[in-house]
Amino acid sequence: MEQFTGRPIFQGIAIGPIRLYTKKEQQVKRYKITDAEAEIARFHRARETAAAELASLYEAAVRQVGEANAMIFEVHQMMLEDEDYLDSVTHIIRTQEINAEMAVATTGDNFSAMFSAMEDEYMRARAADVKDISERLIACLVNGGSASELLTEPAILAAEDLAPSETVQLDKSMLLGFVTRLGSANSHTAILARTMNLPALIGIRPDPAWNGRLAVVDGYSGTLTVDPDEEYLLQMQTRKAQDEEKRTLLQQLKGKETVTRSGRRVKLYANVGSLSDIRSAMENDAEGIGLFRSEFLYLEKKDFPTEEEQFAIYRTALENMGGKKVIIRTLDIGADKQIDYFGLEREENPALGYRAIRICLTRPDIFRTQLRALLRASVYGPLSIMFPMIISLDEVLAVKEILEEVKQELTAQDIPYAPVEIGVMIETPAAVMISEQLAAEVDFFSIGTNDLTQYTLALDRQNPKLDSFYDPHHPAVLRMIRETIANGHAHGCWVGICGELGADEELTEAFLEMGVDELSVSPPMILRLRKRIREL
Ligand code: PEP
Ligand code: MG
Repeated sequence: MEQFTGRPIFQGIAIGPIRLYTKKEQQVKRYKITDAEAEIARFHRARETAAAELASLYEAAVRQVGEANAMIFEVHQMMLEDEDYLDSVTHIIRTQEINAEMAVATTGDNFSAMFSAMEDEYMRARAADVKDISERLIACLVNGGSASELLTEPAILAAEDLAPSETVQLDKSMLLGFVTRLGSANSHTAILARTMNLPALIGIRPDPAWNGRLAVVDGYSGTLTVDPDEEYLLQMQTRKAQDEEKRTLLQQLKGKETVTRSGRRVKLYANVGSLSDIRSAMENDAEGIGLFRSEFLYLEKKDFPTEEEQFAIYRTALENMGGKKVIIRTLDIGADKQIDYFGLEREENPALGYRAIRICLTRPDIFRTQLRALLRASVYGPLSIMFPMIISLDEVLAVKEILEEVKQELTAQDIPYAPVEIGVMIETPAAVMISEQLAAEVDFFSIGTNDLTQYTLALDRQNPKLDSFYDPHHPAVLRMIRETIANGHAHGCWVGICGELGADEELTEAFLEMGVDELSVSPPMILRLRKRIREL
């Protein structure tokens, strides 16, 4: 039995085999195989995955840079069909009885050397393409293409790091918990773990030798135990059963009101990022959706989701919530939520960079598509639209103007939409300071304490080294929250909290005293918080 200590980001116990996730591992190992035909079949499956990846890359590139510039991905697709290339790979597998990765690497090296030696400049340039396509094939062989195909049985995922775009692609029904070396307690990957009710640890370096071995993640003490002995395993199984019992007890609070003993009511909503989270919100008796992080729809895809795709999701969300309020936040991409097909440049300070509303206001094509989908969905239930990372009144006025134009466009096309409430996230000190003016322009505020803490304390929420400095209970942060609520109320806005702090039971009483109208938390926290509020 081996034990490792990390930092827990969600409490709970997970027990199961470890599955190691090594991304883009390009170091190819050679090994002997016994069944050449099975290995060739594995190669062809990887080839199909690579072809599908290239097809979506091609479509995305056509939209962004036009057909002529997107051609390269078509060329790569053609190379995947090239008979000489395929013959070389299968020949090596059969004659040398070695694994497909090695056969692809050898073929890639041979072909690119051959192209490099050609006189024709165009043909010489193909050397890089052969290398590229071989690397893609190897990645598909090693990792199954992407994180989405990694889990074939319930397992604890161990990785160096997990980006939000990788986390959303994991098969959640197969994920028991995860352990990573990098990542911070306030990152979106950590938030996803909490939303999915997954015990997770950070700060532990995964060892390839763990792959397939039984392990226990203890999200209370922050311990990972590989090859637990019988006594420890039994102890942890008991603890897990106790957790489940507690969860069952909380079920009694379903259908009960969220009200303090003195009769103070507060709305208890859920934070979600997908339709499956909406299911979890309903199972946990959420009174509405306080934050639908719409960017996760974009993160799950290989190209911009179309208006129809978005409309279908927003409509289903509203229909599933059966008349309860659904607050959808417009695209909040950038910083740690990076998407290849947006083609964003690397930035020195991404958290202070080109993100969220800044992208929407400068890429109106993307923004309008989302607003059209949202407005069209509004006839299926009470929809509120919320805008992230606001720092100025001008931004709110610009957003409102675009929304008005989109409404007029729909009217002209005879497409129905219903009245929608609009709100802004208060997650920058600037927004707090001008909250009186903002309140005059919108219907509600939702305080994003994750970013508000980051920007108020000048602490990068992504940096794990700063976790011990990241103090959302800092008096400056609490004062910002108090002021926002007071200014919102003074100008007719209702005010909620949708950052992670909303679920902090130590602050629930203080938030109620400040006058908060709504708390929006990850679905697994709803009933716990209702219990806390009913005890106050
Ligand atoms: C926040 O910043 O508090 C928030 C809710 O938004 P996100 O965590 O998605 O940045
Ligand atoms: Mg935020």
